[in-house]
Amino acid sequence: MRRNQSSGLADVAGRIARAIERRRTQRVAPAIDDAALAARLASYDFAQPRALDEVTRDLLDLLTQYAVRSDHPRYFGLFNPPALIPAIAGDWIASAINPQLAVWSHAPAAAEIERKLVLLFGRWIWSEHTVAGTFTSGGSEANMTALLVALQGRYPRWHQDGIPRTGRLPGVFVSSESHLAWIKIARMCGLGSQAVHLVSPADGLALSGAQMQAALSSAAAEPVLVVATAGTTAHGAIDDLAGIAAAGHAHHAHVHVDAAWAGGALLHGPARPLFNGIEAADSVTVDPHKWLAVPMGAGLFLSRSWQSLERTFDVANGYMPSASTEHRDAYIHSVQWSRRFIGAKLFASLATMGLPGYQQMIARQFELGARLRARLSEEHWQIDNCTALPLICFSPRFDGERRALLIRGIAERVIRDGAAWISVATLRGQLALRACITSFETCEDDLEALLKSLNAARTAALTAVT
Ligand SMILES: *Cc1c(COP(=O)(O)O)cnc(C)c1O
Repeated sequence: MRRNQSSGLADVAGRIARAIERRRTQRVAPAIDDAALAARLASYDFAQPRALDEVTRDLLDLLTQYAVRSDHPRYFGLFNPPALIPAIAGDWIASAINPQLAVWSHAPAAAEIERKLVLLFGRWIWSEHTVAGTFTSGGSEANMTALLVALQGRYPRWHQDGIPRTGRLPGVFVSSESHLAWIKIARMCGLGSQAVHLVSPADGLALSGAQMQAALSSAAAEPVLVVATAGTTAHGAIDDLAGIAAAGHAHHAHVHVDAAWAGGALLHGPARPLFNGIEAADSVTVDPHKWLAVPMGAGLFLSRSWQSLERTFDVANGYMPSASTEHRDAYIHSVQWSRRFIGAKLFASLATMGLPGYQQMIARQFELGARLRARLSEEHWQIDNCTALPLICFSPRFDGERRALLIRGIAERVIRDGAAWISVATLRGQLALRACITSFETCEDDLEALLKSLNAARTAALTAVT
């Protein structure tokens, strides 16, 4: 067998393209037969080689038949969009050439492309300031980087001695509505989940600076990292970024803004006022694999200081090509060591669509969000959240004690119907339905299909619970 079946790649590309063209006609959430899936996988014992053609056909079929199709235009779920074609191409090229980005000298073109993208994003946040940063696997790694840098900033000998054994325990202060990756991150950094102080917003949605200030002043823990979320995962709330930054800085904490999904909209000028105050942060997370629709995983940790990254991650060793201070080697300023060319997919999509192409895409999703919100009201649904982002939490007008059951029943019926996929979210202690415009292929007809399915599900579920 030939080790290199490079000619086979063209056929695979054709098949992928056809799968993408077909997705609109398929069910968003196919009914999954676990036994059938197990039987298909059981046929792979790896004892004999199989043809690339056969294996890639089967893999595509498995992934399209046995999955919630988050790439579908009527997937209104969490922010898992389909990937843009140029981004897929960029990612394929990164896979094919497989450059190693740990040190600048091994892959200068790739390293400089990533540097250019970090600068571009940083400029939308801090117009004149130094911009440092790194691509990450996603928002969790970027947020973890923020905590590590904050610990180094607070305890100058942390990189060597770890957390001091005397004095107050370090604390991370964040909204109770934030992404709870913070709990895992605190554990991964050796602090334990007790280090995460979840501050509940007064309105149940967006945290104010005054509330953060009160939490910091009354805490027994040492505020090391203070986080504002710009675009909560469940309901799209944007915390008071300026107020929280001022509160954090007054306590000498590192201030971080988690804009993992909504931060993609930073490149759309008219959306920039939503992020007012973000420029006061010391660092920011933005996930290109969310709103910017590049394949997973692609996150960005953006910061105002190279020194803080280097103090946190630098390790002297004898086997890496000698570290360059002129060109910053990624392995001494980031979590990863061997490093994939994550920026390739974003570079390819930004260069192909241009900023105007991306801006139109984002503007259109804002419009569709506003339209869905208005249409839901017309159809007598109650709107429960309050955000300019294209994410709507809503519920049937029903106050009985079986409200949660009714809401779950509606979501399940919509998903079973196969026309669309939505989720549920808790806000202000109450369950609601949640629909988010995630796909750049979603159009008005998709909204109408969702509404039709929702209305039918509401009627059926009301009959079932009353
Ligand atoms: C998605 C998300 C995260 C986690 O990012 P991953 O890329 O899934 O690791 C963190 N914060 C917010 C606000 C998010 O939406």
